[in-house]
Amino acid sequence: MLAKPKVAFFDFTSCEGCQLTVIDTLQTHLGLLDLVEIVQFREAMSEKGDDYQIAFIEGSCTRESDEQRLRAIRQQAVIVVALGACAHLGGVNAMKNRWPIEDVQTYVYGRAGRDLYESYPARPISDVIEVDYAIPGCPIDRQEFVRTVQYLLQGRKPRLPDHPLCVECKLAENACLNKLGKPCLGPITRAGCHAICPSHGDGCEGCRGFISEANFTYMREILRGHGLSDVEIDAQFTMFNYYQLAAMGVDAPLSQINGNGHRRHAADAEALPASTFAAPKEA
Ligand code: SF4
Ligand code: SF4
Ligand code: SF4
Repeated sequence: MLAKPKVAFFDFTSCEGCQLTVIDTLQTHLGLLDLVEIVQFREAMSEKGDDYQIAFIEGSCTRESDEQRLRAIRQQAVIVVALGACAHLGGVNAMKNRWPIEDVQTYVYGRAGRDLYESYPARPISDVIEVDYAIPGCPIDRQEFVRTVQYLLQGRKPRLPDHPLCVECKLAENACLNKLGKPCLGPITRAGCHAICPSHGDGCEGCRGFISEANFTYMREILRGHGLSDVEIDAQFTMFNYYQLAAMGVDAPLSQINGNGHRRHAADAEALPASTFAAPKEA
């Protein structure tokens, strides 16, 4: 019998909701445990094996000491998968990049505690190490996780969809929220979650990242039609994707970066390493 591939799960700055989704998924897909050997998974077991071929990494890189740990994982793993929006995009963690890091630390920990915790602007892990694949979402979609594992075990390359969420939403026969007066970022957001939020009456907030041909101008017009101000629209665009948009600098489709007097965002963008919308390697 062939040895099972050894798999490890790691967490960086995150809420650990994606790992919880994995644990939940393993309870309903017990067969996966016959196919792989999990050697490290802090949230689910106490053993810590350092011999693994596949590493799933949850969370953003938010401090200098994360970099060394990420590089060590990359050195060991044959395949690295970014697990969830924090690792894939920087996600909600990158919202703090709007402000000087000292201000953020003071706000959270107070003047006395601000130097106790190491921190710097949040980044997706692909800015530190090469990432082979990503499972987007906040949290990840469990079916996509299972499919990704199956593909990897079959030696196939998982692909991320690059069409808008609206396609899945229409297939689900939902009434369009934007037509019902509720903001939804479906037209610019990567599909793959089966339009779960609109299917439950909530507008999409873009946690899977943007499609490569996202029409931000048209999306902004739709959102203005809901009575949202440009600042409020910027906030919607950047909830999960601040890092990607900030990295675009003055080309970002944000009113605040494009010269409406809020230059702090542009300054942040210059301070950040370059990044694009390109997802990690996708076949
Ligand atoms: S992507 Fe969302 S659910 Fe997953 S760890 Fe980050 S904040 Fe939590
Ligand atoms: S509700 Fe959102 S995802 Fe669904 S069709 Fe309308 S804009 Fe697209
Ligand atoms: S509908 Fe949008 S916000 Fe909700 S899970 Fe899907 S991509 Fe994320």
